[in-house]
Amino acid sequence: MTDRNHRPLPMEPFVPHLFEEDKFHDECGVFGICDHPESSALTVLGLHALQHRGQEAAGVVSCDESQFHSHKSLGHVADNFNSQPVIESLPGDCSIGHVRYSTSGGSGMRNIQPLFADLSAGGFAVAHNGNLTNALTLRQLLVSKGSIFQSTSDSEVIIHLVATSTYLTLKDRFIDALRRIEGAFAIVALSNDSLIGARDPLGVRPLVLGKLSNGSCIFASETCALDIIGADYIRDVEPGEVVTITGGKIHSMKPFGTHKPRPCIFEHVYFSRPDSLSGGQSIYKVRKNIGKELAKEAKVNADLVVPVPDSGTPAAIGYAQEAGIPFELGIIRNHYVGRTFIEPSDQIRHLGVKLKHNANRGELEGKIVVLVDDSIVRGTTSTKIVDMVRQAGAKEVHMRIASPPTTGPCYYGVDTPEKDKLLAANMTIAEMTKYIGADSLDFVSIDGLYRAVSESMRDSDNPQYCDACFTGEYPTSLTDKEQKDAPAQISFLKEIRLKS
Ligand code: AMP
Repeated sequence: MTDRNHRPLPMEPFVPHLFEEDKFHDECGVFGICDHPESSALTVLGLHALQHRGQEAAGVVSCDESQFHSHKSLGHVADNFNSQPVIESLPGDCSIGHVRYSTSGGSGMRNIQPLFADLSAGGFAVAHNGNLTNALTLRQLLVSKGSIFQSTSDSEVIIHLVATSTYLTLKDRFIDALRRIEGAFAIVALSNDSLIGARDPLGVRPLVLGKLSNGSCIFASETCALDIIGADYIRDVEPGEVVTITGGKIHSMKPFGTHKPRPCIFEHVYFSRPDSLSGGQSIYKVRKNIGKELAKEAKVNADLVVPVPDSGTPAAIGYAQEAGIPFELGIIRNHYVGRTFIEPSDQIRHLGVKLKHNANRGELEGKIVVLVDDSIVRGTTSTKIVDMVRQAGAKEVHMRIASPPTTGPCYYGVDTPEKDKLLAANMTIAEMTKYIGADSLDFVSIDGLYRAVSESMRDSDNPQYCDACFTGEYPTSLTDKEQKDAPAQISFLKEIRLKS
C-alpha cells in the first residue's frame, strides 16, 4: 500500500497468532500407487479401507505424464468419489490419496489433503499422517521469510520447506525438508516421475509397502488398504526410511541416522483396523491378547462379558476366553452413525453415544456384567453405556478397559484432548468408578499391554513403543508446546519481531 505520494505506507508489523492457536489436529490415512492405468480408482478403493482413520474429508491427486489433477471433498469417500466422472477427472498412472479425521479444531476445504504445489523443481503433492511438533515454529520462520500459507494444516510446512530448500532435485529437497521437521510423519508424496513413502525416524505412525501382481507398488497407512485391492503386503516402510519408486524401481534410503523405533502403541489399542497387520502382527490378535492380560489382572466373577462395540470387541473376546465367562453382544451398535468423536461439542457427543449404541435387554436383565472397552478418554462413552446397561436390568456393571489410564494428550496425531479433559488425568480410579457409575473399574497395566503387544516387558530406560498417552514420556522434542508454555519467551520473540 502507498500514500498519495506513492511512498510505501509503514506496514503494521506482522505477528502471527500462531502460539495462541490450539495444536494442529491431524489424524489421517494415506495411500499411494504408481504404474497402474487405473491408479485413481485404486486409490479411492484404498481410501475406502482407511475411512476409519479420517471421516472429515478425503482427497486424491493423480499425475498424468507431467500434469497433476486433484479432487477433494469434505465428507466420506463413498459420498464424494462415487461417480465415473470424478474418477475420469483423475487420469494418470500414479495417484496419492488422503482421509482426514474430524476434529474439534477448525476445518474446511483448504486443509484437505493431498496438498499440492507447483514448485520450481516441478509439481509436488503430499499426503501426511501424523502431527509435527515444531510446525508452528517452522511456520513462523517461513512466514517471516515470505512464505504464504494457504491452510492451517501442519503438513503445509513440508511443502514450503521443499519450496525453499537450496538442494537441486525434488527428492533431495524433500529429504532436506524432512530433516527439519519434528514429531510424527508417515508421508506419501508424488512428483511427476516418482512416488515416495517416508516414515519419521521413530516410526510413530504406520506405513506399509505393497505390490499388485502387475508390479505396481503401493504405500498405505494399513494393510487393510492393500487387501481391498488384492495387493500383497511386502513389508513395513521402516522407521526413518524414505522409499522412492521411479520407473518401477524401488530405492530405499535412511537419511535420518539411527534411532530406536517407537511406533505408537495406541494404533494397537484402538486406531488401526483389527484386520490390519502392524509390524507383520495381527492387530486383532494383539487386541485379544490385551483382553486376556486384562482378565489375568482384573478378573470379575460375572455372568457375561459384553463388549462396547466395535472398539472393545476383540479385547472382550480375549477377556471372556481367559476368564471362562460367556461372551454376549449385550450392546448393539448402529453402524449408520459415525464414531463418537466426530461430534464437535460435548453435548452432541453425549447424544452420539445414544445414537450409536443400544442395550440388548434380553441378554442383560438380572446379570452381573463385565463391560469391556478399549479406552476411556473423557469418560462420556463409559458413563452412558454403564447407565444404559443398568437401565436394561443388569444386576452389577463392572467396567474393564483394554489400555492403561489415558493421562497425557497425544502430540503425534491421535486426537486426544488436553490434560484437563482427560478423565484419568484428573481423577483416581475410585473417583472415575463413581463418575461413570460402575460397580468397579479397572485398566490393563502398562506391562500387561506390552506383554500383549510384544510379548516382552516395557524397557523403562528405552521403551519399545511411543506410549506417551499412558506414561507422559514423549519420545521427541515438543518444540511448539514448549514455546506455547513459555509466554515470557513468546513475548520476547514477538518483541524481536516488532523491532525487526
Ligand atoms: P470417551 O467417551 O471420551 O471416554 O472416549 C472413549 C471412547 O472413544 C472409546 O470407546 C474409544 O473407542 C473411543 N476413542 C478413544 N480414543 C479415540 C480417538 N483418539 N479418536 C476417536 N475415538 C477414540
